[in-house]
Order: sequence, then C-alpha cells, then structure tokens
Amino acid sequence: MQSKQINAFCLPGGKVVFYTGIIPVCENDGGMATVMGHEIGHALARHGSQRMAQKKIVGIIQQSAAVSLSDMDPNQQRQVMAVLGIGAQFGILLPYSREHESEADHLGVLMMAVAGYDPRYSVTFWQRMAKATGGGKTPEFQSTHPSHETRVRQLEDWQEEALQIYKSSQHQQSSRPLPNR
Ligand SMILES: [Zn+2]
Repeated sequence: MQSKQINAFCLPGGKVVFYTGIIPVCENDGGMATVMGHEIGHALARHGSQRMAQKKIVGIIQQSAAVSLSDMDPNQQRQVMAVLGIGAQFGILLPYSREHESEADHLGVLMMAVAGYDPRYSVTFWQRMAKATGGGKTPEFQSTHPSHETRVRQLEDWQEEALQIYKSSQHQQSSRPLPNR
C-alpha cells in the first residue's frame, strides 16, 4: 500500500499488507520476514478478534447511531471505523496491547526461523525501527509501546530457541546468516 507510514498489517484471511514506508526499514528479506512473521503472529493468535470485546462493539455501534462520526473524538472515530471494517482501508488501525505485541513478536521470530530466515534479523530490524520511528507516530507498532528496548531484549531472549529452529529448517532462504555477535 502506498503510504509513508512505517507500518504493516494483516488482513483477515492472512494477507499481510506492507505500507511502502516500511520497506526501506526492512532493508533485506530478513527484515521483511520479521514483519511478515509478526503480522501473521497476530493473525494466528486471533488478536484481531480479541481486540474488541463483543459488548464493547455493541456499545460503540449504539453510540455511533446517536452521535455523528465527526462529533466523536479521534479515538472513538477509529473504533467505529474499525468496527465497520473500514479502518484498514484508510490506514487506521487500532493498537494492539503490549501482550499481543510480545506474543506476535515471539510467534513471528519462530515462524521466520521455520521459514529459513536467520532470526537474528528480527533484532536488527527492530533496532532500525527504533531509529526510524523514534518518537514518531506509527499507529500499530509504536502506539502501544512495548518500548523498542523491551522488544529487542525479548527478541534476544528468544534467539536461542529460534536459532535452533532455524538451523534445522529445511527452507534456508537467501538472507545470509548474520555474523555471530
Ligand atoms: Zn503488532
């Protein structure tokens, strides 16, 4: 999707959409695999459907019937748009919780390893993300703040597990393994 935003998201059904803004940050196929893994991780864990409890959705719909969209604060507007399923179309995404972000990172790094990408690329990718987005506004990745440091630290904790998977993966990809740190 053409957009300067440094973001990506997963559509229901599993298609991962990259904003063009995130591609330079990816830098290599290991970076792309990190984003793919992360977004698919959200989808597999069904974070989308958990993000909003049924009750809350009903409440928002009732509210939106009574108040016009333009009278709502931006946060409410986003919720309504997300409920109506048009959020992604406008590049408006609801933030995931911190736990969901961590879970997606974990699933993501394991999946990239299975797919034959060196999981250490996930660490270097998020370090670049930290630089690229430092303080900026990127709806999904940034707003829920598992701080970039936390994210990188957790990913480092998962490296051993992921590297083992990577080494036994039958699908080695073109990304060259990173030199040992
Ligand atoms: Zn995420």
